[in-house]
Amino acid sequence: MSPPASPISRGTLSNFHSPPVAGSRYPTSSVSPTLMHPGASMARNAGELLDDDRFLKWLFTGEGGAQNNAGRIEALDEMLTTTAGLSATNIVLTNGFAADASRALRNLGLAHHFAAVCDTRGGVVQGPESAHAQSQTIHIAGGAGGRYSKTMFVDGCLFQPAQTQRFLNIPHVARVVYVDDDPERLDPSTSTTIRLPKEGSGIGSEAASMVVEATTEAAQQGGQVLVVFDFDCTLSMKHMFKAMHQPISTWAREWDGVAATLGSPAQAYDRGSPSQDFVEEKPIFL
Ligand SMILES: [Mg+2]
Repeated sequence: MSPPASPISRGTLSNFHSPPVAGSRYPTSSVSPTLMHPGASMARNAGELLDDDRFLKWLFTGEGGAQNNAGRIEALDEMLTTTAGLSATNIVLTNGFAADASRALRNLGLAHHFAAVCDTRGGVVQGPESAHAQSQTIHIAGGAGGRYSKTMFVDGCLFQPAQTQRFLNIPHVARVVYVDDDPERLDPSTSTTIRLPKEGSGIGSEAASMVVEATTEAAQQGGQVLVVFDFDCTLSMKHMFKAMHQPISTWAREWDGVAATLGSPAQAYDRGSPSQDFVEEKPIFL
């Protein structure tokens, strides 16, 4: 026998079930109320944002908001072309979702610069320029709850020949150049870290020059160089993950403000309710 239903369920408290008031102008309804964020009645899936050119422009150039760095996508394209020209391999390592970052980069025309887009959930999208590229899950030593730190990912995957052969078609990585606005500590004997301002505006011209310089120096030491880019506030100018998945973040509010000036349908994507659908970005053990 199943236990009696709990009198309290989401959005419904039994004590508030009062009989209809005679003459009330409010019709009674059998539909339970649900907490929704403003605009959710016209909600669209948050993933559709990644196909919205206005969202991508705001993410990568600030267009629509207070800042507008219109040439930034071309500057990233030039930097990535330069590092690849130095025989380095570009990849993304994000605490967000590899599939989302791949889709954004593909829609921007930047995905072909990357051999893979990886995330700290173990997701890897090889060849992200293909719309058919699927996120595979790889397993790395350590971690908890299916999450890894970036340090674990670099040590347990990027410096492991069996893993890089399988996921990057690279037999051996000699050095890593790592660019992140909130970098984790990597072994300085094999890695060069370029730290950007935390949740700042991502790679600008000065940082791009540093990436090229560090990649040049690493390549001169011989062996395969991997250039590992964080996504949010590194490749992107705005925090994509938080704008998409954390409704109460300043990033989501900033986009909503921009979207409101653009009008429907750019606004009113359903990120779920703050209390029920908040998605952690980083592994909680960090
Ligand atoms: Mg970041």
